[in-house]
Amino acid sequence: MRINCLGGGPAGLYFAILAKRADPAHDIVVVERHHPEDSFGWGIVFSDRTLDTLLQADPPSHAEITRRFHHWSDIDIHFKGECVTAHGHGFSGISRARLIRILQARAEALGVTVRNGVDFAACPSRSDCDLVVGADGIHSTVRGLQTAAFAPTIRESSNRYLWLGSTRLFAAFTFAFRETPHGWFNLHAYRFDDRTSSCIVETPEAVWREAGLDRLSYEESIAFCERLFADVLDGEPLIGNSRRQEHPSGWQRFASISCRRWWHDRTVLIGDAAHTAHFSVGSGTRLAMEDAIELARSLAAHPADLAAALARYQAVREAVAQRVQETGFRRMEWFENVADHARLSPAEFACALLTSSGRLDHEELRRRDPELMQRMAPRTPQGDN
Ligand SMILES: Cc1cc2nc3c(=O)[nH]c(=O)nc-3n(C[C@H](O)[C@H](O)[C@H](O)COP(=O)(O)OP(=O)(O)OC[C@H]3O[C@@H](n4cnc5c(N)ncnc54)[C@H](O)[C@@H]3O)c2cc1C
Repeated sequence: MRINCLGGGPAGLYFAILAKRADPAHDIVVVERHHPEDSFGWGIVFSDRTLDTLLQADPPSHAEITRRFHHWSDIDIHFKGECVTAHGHGFSGISRARLIRILQARAEALGVTVRNGVDFAACPSRSDCDLVVGADGIHSTVRGLQTAAFAPTIRESSNRYLWLGSTRLFAAFTFAFRETPHGWFNLHAYRFDDRTSSCIVETPEAVWREAGLDRLSYEESIAFCERLFADVLDGEPLIGNSRRQEHPSGWQRFASISCRRWWHDRTVLIGDAAHTAHFSVGSGTRLAMEDAIELARSLAAHPADLAAALARYQAVREAVAQRVQETGFRRMEWFENVADHARLSPAEFACALLTSSGRLDHEELRRRDPELMQRMAPRTPQGDN
């Protein structure tokens, strides 16, 4: 089968690896406009469960990915001048650029052709194949070219965010909340290698405007965030990313995307092109790579019937993506309304945040960190919003 994979992010590259492993006779070309070292973004978080899935799917890339991991189990929540630490949460972080390099090297070693530096919009042969895989991310051109077929729904967060790096090496996954005369800002930060942490600063659109951030340059915005979170950053700088998008200040709004159909004729969407989940639940890359696993599996299960393969792929993945998106919505809304929780004590606030996506309940929090839950007693139920 001749397969053109449009987009060489985690979804596209991982699919190419697995499809080639399943059938080395497939002729697979990945078209990617950037080079791996120019990849956008900072770190990526995976849970221990995701790592098991990656191990089953492709042991060599799993070995490379886990060799580069930074692992941690605590969450620090800075609120009203206090830091509440929640124990027992296991995550691993890796640099996005490194993940892309690992996946690209593995794909090429298996015989996949990766064409970096090529925008497929200017690539006449992009649909000259048996299957087009739209793995071109949140702003997918493949999806945009056939909106009637894919029927996407797009809901933008009312918050603005800026995705930065820092040389501050956070010991735990860190959330920090700051009240300013204009309203609340929050920071999500975690270390992902021995030199860098990923830092996302977020605030409601109205606060962003009132603080004058819509009129600041990218560099001025970074300086503003450095001043705001100077204590949590321990005096270390925030670092910008050459791949900033949309607003000149670099501040973006997260778009939650879902599509009624994930495939049409010979074209199929995977990863962020098909669905997105808010970054605060840290699952977008996992979902993208699991889509890749299932698409390769479905093609192998129906080698002579493309429509059956693509229908099976959507049937298996859609419910999973919807579940994660729902947890993402709940978290996104919680972060859009931080002011509503400002009356809580730091311990109550920490529990409300940790349970806000609905993935964790108080029972599970108690199992992971009995001491934290004791600080909540006797008003436990009130903290869960
Ligand atoms: C602030 C933030 C933090 C995040 N943190 C996490 C996290 O901690 N953990 C996690 O799992 N996920 C996280 N995510 C989500 C994660 O980044 C995405 O879900 C994931 O990258 C999706 O992979 P993908 O391959 O589908 O899309 P992408 O990674 O977006 O890859 C798409 C690729 O297509 C290429 N492309 C697009 N258009 C064209 C074109 N015309 N021609 C050629 N190439 C093209 C792009 O250059 C890109 O490389 C975060 C997202 C954001 C915004």
